[in-house]
Amino acid sequence: MRIQQSQELFERATSVIPGGVNSPVRAFSSVGGTPRFMVSGEGAYLSDEDGNRYVDLVSSWGPMILGHSHPAVVEAVRSAAGSGLSFGTPVRGEVDLAAEIIRRVDPVEQVRLVNSGTEATMTAIRLARAFTGRDKIVKFAGCYHGHVDALLVQAGSGVATLGLPTSPGVSDAQAADTIVLPYNDIEAVRACFAEHAGRIAAVITEAAAGNMGAVAPVPGFNAELRRLTAEDGALLIMDEVMTGFRVSAAGWYGLDQVAGDLYTFGKVMSGGLPAAAFGGRADVLAMLAPSGSVYQAGTLAGNPVAAAAGLATLRAADEATYHVLDANAQRLGTMLTEALSAAGVAHTIGQAGNLVSVFFSEEPVRDYEGARKAESFRYRPFFHALLEQGVFAPPSAFEAWFVNTAMDDNAFEAIEAALPAAARAAAEATA
Ligand code: PLP
Repeated sequence: MRIQQSQELFERATSVIPGGVNSPVRAFSSVGGTPRFMVSGEGAYLSDEDGNRYVDLVSSWGPMILGHSHPAVVEAVRSAAGSGLSFGTPVRGEVDLAAEIIRRVDPVEQVRLVNSGTEATMTAIRLARAFTGRDKIVKFAGCYHGHVDALLVQAGSGVATLGLPTSPGVSDAQAADTIVLPYNDIEAVRACFAEHAGRIAAVITEAAAGNMGAVAPVPGFNAELRRLTAEDGALLIMDEVMTGFRVSAAGWYGLDQVAGDLYTFGKVMSGGLPAAAFGGRADVLAMLAPSGSVYQAGTLAGNPVAAAAGLATLRAADEATYHVLDANAQRLGTMLTEALSAAGVAHTIGQAGNLVSVFFSEEPVRDYEGARKAESFRYRPFFHALLEQGVFAPPSAFEAWFVNTAMDDNAFEAIEAALPAAARAAAEATA
């Protein structure tokens, strides 16, 4: 496979952009090698600067549930862009997008649009603190909620990939009110509320964890978080940036019906353009400026082109879409496990709704410690063998794999053909 253009571009990129990328995981740090510079996406495929084509199992880290360049989404963006890119005034599209989110997720009564998931979680926490008059925040190890200072402690995603306990630059004061507990450990949450009764503003959790690999909440975990927070007067923030509108029409809420007080969304609801949202109980959202005094704002928030992309994506995502996503995730998981078993590689397939990932561990993974104990050194050769054969898996062992509805038999045949060599490479890997 020729990768000369990507190599040259990456060299140029490293001289003008820190690490050559605008989001760390793209740099291939944990798998090594040269990140591929993509030029186009069509359906289930991406094409790079050297003309190589890949089945895309990253889907832009989640947003592209319909595959790339979906005609309805592209047309909506073209049409919106033709009328102007940004006005700094309210527009009809943002109202329609907010209403569509509210229509899908029952506990969400009001929504504010922002530009990234990070902004959404940052503001959800500010609101929770203002509403409760308390400071402490509980989060779970291995969950990632964006690069908000207070939430970077023992975070998943790129922070886990780089093996950072927290980030330099986060002051002790910023981290002091963050309590980190093991995911899926309800006893630890109970003990925490007993110790800090009346002082916890919110528990923030990924509705299902997708940033340490895919790790579903154990049965009853979310419901017990709901019960404990309500009992103590703390808020429950369901971070559905990854799961929202991907794992069902109503996100993870559609699967377990456990209502949060606040929600954060991103990815799918933006259709691939920069937009995200937070929302939830109207009495909490009422505290937000301009109705209330909790400040939050954004020059480009509710951008008409981004709102059009998000709305077109959600309108195209009907029940059939979610059946196809679930079926594709199932098919991918089965292919992965068959190939790895045939090569004698100990593994488990992480699954949370239609999020999938591979853990090189026989033990089922239920928390960050379990994810870290897996033999992640096997991921590097596994990933590269897939890449060389035109299959683009996430360039980190701690990320979920994202299917889309554009994956057809040809795409799956390409994955199936590439897997045996990749599984053999994983089998031969040494620490
Ligand atoms: N929350 C979750 C669960 C996420 O997966 C992410 C990003 O991957 C974020 C928040 C942050 O979103 P963004 O990257 O748009 O800032």
